[in-house]
Amino acid sequence: MLFEPSSILTPRGHFVGGVGLASGESFDVVSASDPQITRPLNCADDVLVDRAVTAAKTAFRSSQWATVDPRSRARTLKRWSVLIRDRAEELACLEALISTRPYPEVLARDVHVAADCIEFFAEFADKLDGAVTPTSGDVLSLSVYEPHGVVAAISPWNFPLILSAWKYAPALAAGNAVVLKPSELAPFSLTKIAELAIEAGVPPGIFNVVHGDGKTGAALVKHPDVDYVSFTGSVETGAQVAADAALSGVKPVSLELGGKGAQLVFSDAPNKDALISLLKKGACYNSGQVCFAGTRLVVEEAVADEVIAGLAAAFQAMRPGATWNEHGDLPPIINEKQLHRIHSIVCDSVAQGAEIITGGTPLEGPRGAAFYAPTILRNVSDETPAVAREIFGPVLTVQTFSDFDEAIQLVNHKDFALANSVHTSNMANALRAARRMEVGTVWVNDWGRKGDLTSPFGGYKKSGYGKDLGRPGFEKYLKSKSIWFDVLVN
Ligand code: NAD
Repeated sequence: MLFEPSSILTPRGHFVGGVGLASGESFDVVSASDPQITRPLNCADDVLVDRAVTAAKTAFRSSQWATVDPRSRARTLKRWSVLIRDRAEELACLEALISTRPYPEVLARDVHVAADCIEFFAEFADKLDGAVTPTSGDVLSLSVYEPHGVVAAISPWNFPLILSAWKYAPALAAGNAVVLKPSELAPFSLTKIAELAIEAGVPPGIFNVVHGDGKTGAALVKHPDVDYVSFTGSVETGAQVAADAALSGVKPVSLELGGKGAQLVFSDAPNKDALISLLKKGACYNSGQVCFAGTRLVVEEAVADEVIAGLAAAFQAMRPGATWNEHGDLPPIINEKQLHRIHSIVCDSVAQGAEIITGGTPLEGPRGAAFYAPTILRNVSDETPAVAREIFGPVLTVQTFSDFDEAIQLVNHKDFALANSVHTSNMANALRAARRMEVGTVWVNDWGRKGDLTSPFGGYKKSGYGKDLGRPGFEKYLKSKSIWFDVLVN
């Protein structure tokens, strides 16, 4: 065991105005690896949400976070990232105790991606110039950038540390105040992150965390003093968030929503062993609980049997394990409800003619934890539920093609358009495919984001709008103002 779960103390409440607050009704947060481990947490009601937003608004106006020279804001943020790295073990325990993220991965990766994110965006703080626009000579027109004010950031449970940092880091670097609402299913690491912000010198009230479910999230979105909403989660919730934001102040919103990534494999794909391992990772990393998971294999007929056989063997070799165990490469499903959802989509697909190559069943986990066998389904069409719907579990569907146009037609999903891969040795084909894919990100002979934060990420269609990361992931937290001088006056 990498840590003793029963020994981990978890924060009980919110973090507002620079202090911990334990108010609101208590609910139990349940460990994905062991549902018998629960921890109480307070749920923020409308009054507490109002208190957090008011703290953010007051700090935005009075703390000079927005108006201080950006270099000193960047220095504070960088101190914060150092503290986060220093407390990596504590953060990794808080994350692995409850979520589906294995402790070694959080320690080696997730904590550092969060810290990198803060550093990366801190470096933007004094790098974005305004403009002098080309007016006639008797006027001077400036375009300057300003922070929105109070940003509401709402994040999902699948990568709590990383996906929250994608939001609060650029928003704060741009000079905003933030109220973050992490997912109620995996909340604890974010309270610790907020405590460390104060230690680093972020003014009290500039970064607040409120806990709770959809009701808390909705109260935050609808609050009249929230100026911008940055949301990551499901398509259904995202649509509700956009509607609520529109009806409560016409607030700008960015939405990072669900996906249904395709893995397009041509018969000339290089290095078949590496390909199998990439395809397995694409479908099964974090047990498929990844928004850009590559869960639709679209493979050229000539190599389909070989690729499927290789994948089936790789899937069968995966072993379930608690997030605090050294052994096991298949983490738990977040909860029983999600396990049932995965299984019912698989069963509905089979009822409509899908053939199970491997998997297709829940796996018995220790002490009632939910695991799902890595699954491959064949004989599917675009209408099969496992192809049409986001599953958020380790389930891969297989469709085959015999020519390029057919491949592109299968790859482009009617609803989801977050990220796809194409595997081929022919770079002209790779580029042709990438250009015709209706999707926000394309990987060539690869799958998944690396540590690099320079490349923006976000979807088309129902996968959302607005980008996280890269330059656009910073600029969206700023609005632009035009200032005119009549230089002939006097
Ligand atoms: P979810 O939509 O159920 O919840 C996301 C967050 O929204 C949670 O914090 C939740 O409490 C909150 N929420 C719920 N109802 C709300 C409301 N009415 N108003 C405001 N907030 C509300 O999603 P989830 O189950 O936590 O996460 C999984 C989903 O997130 C999947 O669809 C996945 O694809 C998507 N996701 C997308 C990305 C991306 O970058 N595009 C990344 C990770 C996850």
